[in-house]
Amino acid sequence: MDREQNQRFVWDEEQLSDRDRRHVWHPYASMYNPPRAYPVSRARGVRLTLLDGRELIDGMSSWWAAIHGYNHPRLNRAIRDQLEKMAHVMFGGLTHEPAVKLATRLVDLTPSALDKVFFCDSGSVAVEVAIKMAIQYWQALGRSRKSKLLTIRGGYHGDTFGAMSVCDPVTGMHSLFSAILTAQHFAEVPACRFDEAWHERYIDDFRERITAVRDELAAVILEPIVQGAGGMRFYSPVFLERVRDLCTKHEVLLILDEIATGFGRTGKLFASEYAGVSPDMMCLGKAMTGGYMTLAATLTTKQISEAISRAEPKAFMHGPTFMGNPMACAVSLASIDVLLESPWRERVSRIERQLKRELSACSALPEVKDVRVLGAIGVVELAHPVRLPEVTQAFVDRGVWIRPFGRLVYTMPPFIIEEDDLEKITSAIVEVVSRHCSNRNRG
Ligand SMILES: *Cc1c(COP(=O)(O)O)cnc(C)c1O
Repeated sequence: MDREQNQRFVWDEEQLSDRDRRHVWHPYASMYNPPRAYPVSRARGVRLTLLDGRELIDGMSSWWAAIHGYNHPRLNRAIRDQLEKMAHVMFGGLTHEPAVKLATRLVDLTPSALDKVFFCDSGSVAVEVAIKMAIQYWQALGRSRKSKLLTIRGGYHGDTFGAMSVCDPVTGMHSLFSAILTAQHFAEVPACRFDEAWHERYIDDFRERITAVRDELAAVILEPIVQGAGGMRFYSPVFLERVRDLCTKHEVLLILDEIATGFGRTGKLFASEYAGVSPDMMCLGKAMTGGYMTLAATLTTKQISEAISRAEPKAFMHGPTFMGNPMACAVSLASIDVLLESPWRERVSRIERQLKRELSACSALPEVKDVRVLGAIGVVELAHPVRLPEVTQAFVDRGVWIRPFGRLVYTMPPFIIEEDDLEKITSAIVEVVSRHCSNRNRG
């Protein structure tokens, strides 16, 4: 490549941003006069380095995933070592050590009834797989009427069609597709917050609904304890215990979507441990590879897998091309080792204490409706939606990366974050909320 050609590939920030805005469609973004995305050139530990050299402290863990921070030597090595052996092979009829080891690991870490692992490429697909398994299970038992799902409002389970059908019908942003989405059943958002006293009336609405439609229900699907992108709410473990009992009583499978909560984020390895419940299926993703590669899994029981496998067509009908990618499995194994060898419980509870202490300053602000913290998740709920580009820029100007959505300004930093870096995040939140989120200044 001669020098001139080479130079065409070394774009400065301006050129990169310009082409990005012209050709690259970002998540939930407009392509008409799109807001600019910040080009990142490197990332290490809890810091993202922008192309112009500025450093941002990461408050998002790249959407729950980068729990160990970026550019981790052991995770890098796991991918490099695997790459030297093979990047990928098809999973139909072939298998490999990283996938087998990872499946065994997941089975060991999750409730004992979960015994079979189906790998897929993203969280949304893990949810599709769980829904399909539930439907195939009841068909196998000759009860094909049981094909619908019951969930609670305020949930988020992904952007594919099955997953969209169980997202919150209002905040789920999927009303455009309602004509072709399967109509599912919805119970009210759990009325009982995480640490509030429980009253049995809090389960009334859910109990009434499951009792009324049990004959057409294949499964209940829920995010345990923490509802993520549907509203960032934390609910009582007793609610989850009651749901488990009602599912068993009414012969409905329970799918727990631990895609956001799994691998320590809430202070337990899996959020369902707060309630001590064991689901019939569990979906994992996001932090499973420490944020390195896309990989997800749906776990289920021996009983369900065998019922599906005994009936025609004697197989589970799903198979992604890149299923069980060896590099993704290898880095996931390394990420789980790094997590379990680290003092992650202490780290998460230290983050929790600090978030509670430092975000409490937001409670007094007139534009703030609620402040809540659980594990390494801190949420400031506002009275009005934020003006995203302005607010994002205000955070970047203060050297932190925070990406609010709707009325929610929230942080879930990497577990390795130090106290002073976390303090920069929380003080930026307090400042930006008080200066940029009040209704007075709305333009
Ligand atoms: C992010 C998320 C999903 C979807 O995962 P993708 O990898 O984005 O497809 C599903 N469920 C929950 C709870 C999530 O947080």
